Amino acid sequence: KAIETYTEQTANAAAVALRQQLNEWRDAYYTADQPTVEDHVYDEQYRDLQTLEAAFPAIITADSPTQQVGGAVLPQFTKVTHRLPMLSMGDVFSEAELADFMARLAKNTGREIAYSTELKIDGLAISLVYENGQFVRGATRGNGTIGEDITKNLKTIDSIPQTLTRPVSLEVRGECYMPRAAFAALNQRREAAGQANFANPRNAAAGSLRQLDAKITKQRQLATWLYTVVEPEQFELTTQTEALAFMRELGFQVNPATTLSHDLADIQDFIATYQAQRDQLPYDIDGVVLKVDDLALQTALGNTVKVPRWEIAYKFPPEEAKTVIRDIEWTV
Ligand code: NAD
Repeated sequence: KAIETYTEQTANAAAVALRQQLNEWRDAYYTADQPTVEDHVYDEQYRDLQTLEAAFPAIITADSPTQQVGGAVLPQFTKVTHRLPMLSMGDVFSEAELADFMARLAKNTGREIAYSTELKIDGLAISLVYENGQFVRGATRGNGTIGEDITKNLKTIDSIPQTLTRPVSLEVRGECYMPRAAFAALNQRREAAGQANFANPRNAAAGSLRQLDAKITKQRQLATWLYTVVEPEQFELTTQTEALAFMRELGFQVNPATTLSHDLADIQDFIATYQAQRDQLPYDIDGVVLKVDDLALQTALGNTVKVPRWEIAYKFPPEEAKTVIRDIEWTV
C-alpha cells in the first residue's frame, strides 16, 4: 500500500501489527536460533515498518525492532556488558541506494571518502578480549549492550588464538561462522541420528556457540573472520585497512577478500565479483559491507541508536534456487 494513503492513525495500527510479527520472527531467529521465515521475508516487512516510521516519526516506539539490536540474552549464560555497544548495520538492496548513501556521506562531510570494502559474512558477531596477549573473555553481541559469556566455547575454536604474537591488551570483534562443508556434515550426522536439520549455516553457528557444553561446540568445526579493533587509537591505527593488517599480524583470521575502494565503480566491481563467486566460497556471505576507512571520520560520524552512520551493508538478492543446487553439491 502506498505510503501517501496512510494517516498517522492507520500508519500506527499497521506499525503495531508489523512489530508484533517482526518480534515473533526475531525471537525465533536471535533467541532460539531457529528462524521460521527466510531472511528476505523478514527484510521486506522490516523495510515496510521503516517506511511507515520515517513518514510518521511520532509513531516510533523505543521497543520497535527498528530501534533494537539483536535478541534476548539467554539466562543460562553469564552476562557481559560490552565496553562499547555492539551495533547492527544499516542496509541497502540496490546499487542506486548504495550510491545515495555514498553521495550523502560525501555531501555531509565535504570529503572524498575511501571505503574499506569487505564481505558480509553470514554468521554471528563475537567479541574477544585479550589481556597481555592472552585470550581472557569472549561474548555474543546479545542485545548490543549486554552479551552472553561464551569464553569456554570460543576456546574450542582452532582459528581463535589463545596467545597473540604480541603481549597487547585489546578487544577485537568479528564473525563466527560454520563453513559449508562442516554444515553439510553436521546435517548428515543429525539426519542419521533422526534429529532435525539446521536451517542454514548461520543458525547452525549460532546454535553451536550458544551451548552449555563446550564439547558440542568443539565438534561443530566453527571458524572466524575478525574485522574490528575496538579503541584502535591505542595502537595508533588511523584506518580500517591498517586495523585489518594489525589483526592479521596479531594472529587473527582476517578475510583476504577486502579492498580499499575510492568510488562507486570500484565498489560495483567488488560486488559483481563476489556475487558471481558467492556459490564457490566455502562459507556463506549475504552481501558486501562498506566502511569509511578513516577511523577519525568514523568517530566524527558516530552512530544512531541502532547502526553506525559510517558503514552500510549492500545485501545480495535472495538465492532460493541456488541454495537447492548447493545443498545437493554438498550432500552427495
Ligand atoms: P546484520 O546481520 O544485517 O548486520 C550486522 C552484522 O553484520 C554484524 O553484527 C556482524 O555480525 C555482521 N557482519 C558480517 N560481516 C561483517 C563485516 N565484514 N563487517 C562488519 N560486520 C559484519 O544485522 P542484524 O541486526 O544482526 O540482523 C539483521 C539481519 O538478520 C537481517 O539480514 C535479517 O534478514 C536477519 N534476520 C532474520 C530473521 C528471520 O526470521 N529470518 C529475523 C531477524 C533477523
